[in-house]
Amino acid sequence: MSDLVRVRFAPSPTGPLHMGGVRTALFNYLFAKKYDGTFILRIEDTDQTRYVANAEQYIIDALKWCNITIDEGPNIHEKYGPYRQSERKEIYKKYVDELVAKGCAYYAFDSSDDLDKHRKDHEEKGKTFIYNWHNRNKLQNSLALAEDVVSAKIKNGEKYVIRFKSPENETIQLVDEIRGTITIDTNTLDDKVLFKSDGMPTYHLANIVDDHLMQISHVIRGEEWLPSLPLHILLYKAFGWNPPKFAHLPLILKPVGKGKLSKRDGDKLGFPVFPLAYTNPKSGEVSSGYKEEGYFPEAFVNMLALLGWNPGTEQEIFSMEQLIAAFELGRVSKSGAKFSPDKTKWFNQQYLQQKSATELANLYSVILENRGISREMSYVKKVVALVKERAVFVSDFWQLSDFFFETPKAYDPKAVKKQWKENTPSLMTEVGEVIQNIDDFTSENTENLIKEWITKKEIGFGKVMQPLRLSLVGALKGPHLFDIMEMIGKEETIHRIEVAIKELSQE
Ligand code: GLU
Repeated sequence: MSDLVRVRFAPSPTGPLHMGGVRTALFNYLFAKKYDGTFILRIEDTDQTRYVANAEQYIIDALKWCNITIDEGPNIHEKYGPYRQSERKEIYKKYVDELVAKGCAYYAFDSSDDLDKHRKDHEEKGKTFIYNWHNRNKLQNSLALAEDVVSAKIKNGEKYVIRFKSPENETIQLVDEIRGTITIDTNTLDDKVLFKSDGMPTYHLANIVDDHLMQISHVIRGEEWLPSLPLHILLYKAFGWNPPKFAHLPLILKPVGKGKLSKRDGDKLGFPVFPLAYTNPKSGEVSSGYKEEGYFPEAFVNMLALLGWNPGTEQEIFSMEQLIAAFELGRVSKSGAKFSPDKTKWFNQQYLQQKSATELANLYSVILENRGISREMSYVKKVVALVKERAVFVSDFWQLSDFFFETPKAYDPKAVKKQWKENTPSLMTEVGEVIQNIDDFTSENTENLIKEWITKKEIGFGKVMQPLRLSLVGALKGPHLFDIMEMIGKEETIHRIEVAIKELSQE
């Protein structure tokens, strides 16, 4: 592994990972692997009020399901560990003190009531209160107060935060690998809190310190963090560190209408927004996941890769290896990418068609076992080969092929009404006799003999074939009827005809 490319996925464990988060992880992973680099998982759990206990495990499980392997992370090759920010508390204090000593940050004692009052006063005058260069010299902080007052306040245990002192009257140039150069006037920035009164760093400080200490080369993250970039660049400058390269990924948009696809959109719009199903530990509420809905991880990953990135060709189906080879930050778009649930299904269908009959039969056997059905693998394989073309999910197989495993328990009433006529029972009895006399029960031979008989009797094919299908399948669906007959065998075919005659003649 080379140290030239070191990227991190840095989620906050505040709940399940949204599919947008998985895409961020994926793009980081693809980029790392393309350059033989390192993919790091860092848990950003400094906001204790939003901490959710099962979220970290969820994140790890979700990445694993997607085949995104972590090179360094909590308990994994902890080269620059620990990788959980809550376990790095002492580190941040030292760095924020350094900024204060350098005059790049300051203590601020303003209570939240004070700040609320300032906000209100400003609002009344039609203005917005921003804690920045404009007013910081008039507020309760170490820039405005005398040194001895400040030391006394600290000594007395008065609560304070540490704010970044944004430079005045400077123009800074930010470079984003996807968006190009962005120019910012520092007078528009507020003095963000770096260190909170509870002794914990804020996201901004911890994130920068860790990216530096963990030698991150590229920060690839969601567009929602772009507004934080000026502060982050200024922090690097204040510390005298070289910043990594930055790339902000476009938003994932709702399938219809405008706006970002949010966690709340999920089940409401009829599709999952989470990779794995999630149970909220507090409310017990369960959200659906792609895995449990029957999606293959390869299909889910393939779909995500194309949300905001394109290979520049018509190719749509990519294995993880192909994605790694093709991925380029330069081909990530600036504008939002619309999520399509239908396209996601299409990907799953494509992957399902590519799977071997053995793999699909193994998956289907589990469903069959749950229904108390056990059949030889060779039989299940043949069934799968006959019906898979019409399946999007393995769970579709049962509905497409139940008749290969059991005698119909019910018959489609509409089809019965249309196809089961007065003379049908006698016709079916006759067909039953024809079938009884067939020795070579292969699909082809049966088809020839039955068609010959129909021709000889001078009745329409439909008059025999449709009720026969109804008898064997219970509906007018399914693959080639003679293939079905060969599969279920002569005895079962005759049995089903007898059952249908009995059941349907009573109506
Ligand atoms: N902890 C931030 C998040 O939850 C990380 C943002 C970043 O990658 O810098 O997304």
